[in-house]
Amino acid sequence: MISGPSGVGKTTIVEAVLDRTSSVFSVSATTRPPRRGEVDGEDYHFLNREDFEAKVTEGDILEWVEYGGYLYGTLRAAVDPVLRSGQSVILDIENEGAKQIRGAYENAVLIFVSPPTLSALQERLVGRGDTPESDMEVRLDVATAQMAEAPYVYDHIVENDDLTRTIEQVLGILRSEGVHVA
Ligand code: 5GP
Repeated sequence: MISGPSGVGKTTIVEAVLDRTSSVFSVSATTRPPRRGEVDGEDYHFLNREDFEAKVTEGDILEWVEYGGYLYGTLRAAVDPVLRSGQSVILDIENEGAKQIRGAYENAVLIFVSPPTLSALQERLVGRGDTPESDMEVRLDVATAQMAEAPYVYDHIVENDDLTRTIEQVLGILRSEGVHVA
């Protein structure tokens, strides 16, 4: 499982892991509106609140949280069939979800990607241009809290000051956990 604040570079890291291992990405459900370029069913399953809540009630969601005013959750169907087939699943979820997954899957490997500094993260979010000004402060506050808690939640913390090096570090961790890396 790979966690870290929005804008830290997780998407690129996850893409590299998918490229170099036979893992499958767990596409989460969310009530957040799609960002430019995001594809329904690939980046997220974009649901309205009512449909999301129905899935929770039906037990289709393994863990979920409210984050920055939107609901995010891991679909049981995105995880269990993949694990049963013997492949690894990659989750991109935040701290509360990570704790819940740790409780449910004790073999889970929890990796947190941390920005070198908070201002580097802010620059990236501004540069990405897809975080409304009104969401920015919340995102940075959440990031600060996540980073403070990370040492108590995750098995590994990787600082992303150089993306290529960070990717190699993450692949090294997976290798040491027994995942085959090409
Ligand atoms: P974003 O809106 O930037 O795509 O994601 C915001 C945060 O929600 C990120 O920290 C991301 O890891 C987290 N997130 C995405 N999907 C899930 C999920 O299914 N469960 C949980 N707990 N967090 C998620």
